[in-house]
Amino acid sequence: MNQNFAFETRAIHAGEQPDMRDGAAGDVAAPIHLSTTFARHEVDQPTGGYEYTRSLNPTRFALESKLAAIENTKYGLAFSSGLAAETAIIMGLLKSGDHVVASDDLYGGTKRLFNRVMSEFGITASYADVTDNSAFERAVTPATRMIWVETVSNPLLKIADIRELAEVAKRHHLILVVDNTFLSPYFMHPADLGADIVMHSATKYIGGHSDVLGGVVMTNDDALYEKIQYYQNAAGAVMAPFDSYIVMRGIKTLALRMERHEQNALKVAEFLEKHEKVSRVVYPGLPSFAQRTLHQSQASGNGGIISFEIRGTVEDAKRFLSRLQIIALAESLGGVESLVELPSLMTHSSVAPEERAKIGITDTLVRLSVGIENADDLIDDLAQAL
Ligand SMILES: *Cc1c(COP(=O)(O)O)cnc(C)c1O
Repeated sequence: MNQNFAFETRAIHAGEQPDMRDGAAGDVAAPIHLSTTFARHEVDQPTGGYEYTRSLNPTRFALESKLAAIENTKYGLAFSSGLAAETAIIMGLLKSGDHVVASDDLYGGTKRLFNRVMSEFGITASYADVTDNSAFERAVTPATRMIWVETVSNPLLKIADIRELAEVAKRHHLILVVDNTFLSPYFMHPADLGADIVMHSATKYIGGHSDVLGGVVMTNDDALYEKIQYYQNAAGAVMAPFDSYIVMRGIKTLALRMERHEQNALKVAEFLEKHEKVSRVVYPGLPSFAQRTLHQSQASGNGGIISFEIRGTVEDAKRFLSRLQIIALAESLGGVESLVELPSLMTHSSVAPEERAKIGITDTLVRLSVGIENADDLIDDLAQAL
């Protein structure tokens, strides 16, 4: 698909041009191909290009084409979950003895993958403060092969300087992997800033409706693509055809949803910042946001995630959360519905208390994923619960 078209146009049409050949139905929405195998005329040649669904499936291929189009990259790959996508990047590109430098307040599941799973295969990781580029350079050892960061971190919304980290990666011949889940391809294109690989948990904004699990990988690099694609087929954690369809459907409204997530989040963040029961609000769209200049230099929007601290004890925070009526108390983020959680007791409970304190995850820090409901209803809900 022509990359000169704007994001919204690519998000809707890429990968889904109707098949207008004789005998084809001309589906406007790509059909769900459930068949696990594909018949051929000749022994040595798959007739339609497809052989077996794990290797390539027409619905997944439509999605993978769309993913490349929306992230401004040459290639896209779809996996059964965000963590399956991460596993494919790590196992497809690294080997025993290799070392990764990652940001310190990484998504808990990614940290667990490095510390508990990959460590058993001889792949080690160490962690650096994402707001300090020199800390990444200092952490590089002769065994380092990869840098792994999130564009906006979780839950403290720290910003990685992608251009600078791409320079560090280039100097030391490392692969820069950027988890762009929190901003979605609508607000940021890390590959344009120098990232070698972009990944997302499609379970979040890309899917957008809290009803499908998925992970996606995008890259411009032929060699990296071939290795990850080889691993995708060899290890097999591919996205299913039905899930591929659901994710494609989500992508078609990504632009509209992200705009509304952002508008609502700004209103909610401004409300929280003025509230006497709230001691601190972290949102990239607020003038008080510490890394605002850097953020604005590399992203076109601020997303829908807010972190804030409740004044008082963890009991006060728990009481606040249990009083919310519209906003559901649940892990995950990025769906049309607003979700709230307490990282210290939920998503980040597996992080040691001393480490939580070091990163800045206090006991009363709340993470709010602002949905696309009416902003005033959300503010009323927060006000009554506070
Ligand atoms: C959820 C999430 C993941 C993991 O994705 P799953 O789809 O849950 O496997 C990775 N990175 C970030 C930033 C996430 O929010």
